[in-house]
Amino acid sequence: MSAPPILTELEPDALAETLAGLGAKPFHARQIYRWIYRRGVADFARMTDLSRDLRAKLERTFAIPTPAVTTRSESADGTVKFLLRLGDGREVESVFIPDTPAMTFCVSTQVGCAMRCGFCLTGRMGLLRNLTAGEIAAQVRVMAHDLDLAGRRFNIVLMGMGEPLHNYDETMKALRILAAECGLAVSPRRVTLSTVGVLPALERLAQEPLMPNLAVSLHATTEELRDRLVPVSRKYGLADLIAACRRFPLARRDRITFEYVLLRDVNDGVADARRLANLLRGIRSKVNVIPLNEAPGIPYRRPSDARIDRFAQTLADRHVTVSVRKSRGRDIRAACGQLIVEGARQAPGQRAAALLGSS
Ligand code: SF4
Repeated sequence: MSAPPILTELEPDALAETLAGLGAKPFHARQIYRWIYRRGVADFARMTDLSRDLRAKLERTFAIPTPAVTTRSESADGTVKFLLRLGDGREVESVFIPDTPAMTFCVSTQVGCAMRCGFCLTGRMGLLRNLTAGEIAAQVRVMAHDLDLAGRRFNIVLMGMGEPLHNYDETMKALRILAAECGLAVSPRRVTLSTVGVLPALERLAQEPLMPNLAVSLHATTEELRDRLVPVSRKYGLADLIAACRRFPLARRDRITFEYVLLRDVNDGVADARRLANLLRGIRSKVNVIPLNEAPGIPYRRPSDARIDRFAQTLADRHVTVSVRKSRGRDIRAACGQLIVEGARQAPGQRAAALLGSS
């Protein structure tokens, strides 16, 4: 017997269309979205404003898989790390950060990652599989209800495991599901998509009617170093990435965020900062400097505070807007690049540990 279709993979219009086949009206689709996303109810029997008959038909027709929280760790600073088990037993980690300055959910778009960035253990796993749109949106749904935040305003960052533009269609569909007014109603303006620069997909993103904020993980200022740290750069080079950023359409007050993981004696010199300022000249941008969170298996070190300050100051002196990311949730290994998924909980044959990357 084949598995029932998954209702949470349907956008509201598609759901309304599908429900019409069961004799339901379009407003029923909105009611169902409200139950699932606003009230956190994934059980048709509890959707009490639907008729008994419709509930029975839905029960027979659809499934609403909801990732199970297998581990929930809360940091002294309020950061909460969730380990979520998907339908096939794979696990992803998702994080709630209470004040960045708004409340923010950091979610994954893939299990593992094909990009193999040199400072990220997720990349070493390789890509295990893409998440579906429903699975990406479900991370927000589960965290919002666990924390009783479904009716509140929050931000979403696609900076967990995986490269969102390498799973383009499902990621964009997830953003449409999350934006649905009858659901969580998270405007794309409150979503930031972080990418290492998969250029054909970045060009597609530039055409989207509903566009999230863009963060580009740069990490290096020369082709040679970026090829080493971010191997996808061998295919889509630094100069081409910067050119694509220059062309990227920005609304009036928008800026592109450039993320720069700072690695001791690798990319943290004054010359690097000067080159970075030159590269970004003429692009409405800000730079988010992320001093490395050291972890076993990562062959790089965190720079000293003095070098971090000097790097940021060199940028600021050149009129670059710069912030240094403070590390959150270090006591529960929820800081950027520190989210460990225990190997025993991965599907058989997985590496012993995986790290949630910074995309
Ligand atoms: S940093 Fe992001 S894009 Fe790079 S390997 Fe890690 S998860 Fe993938």
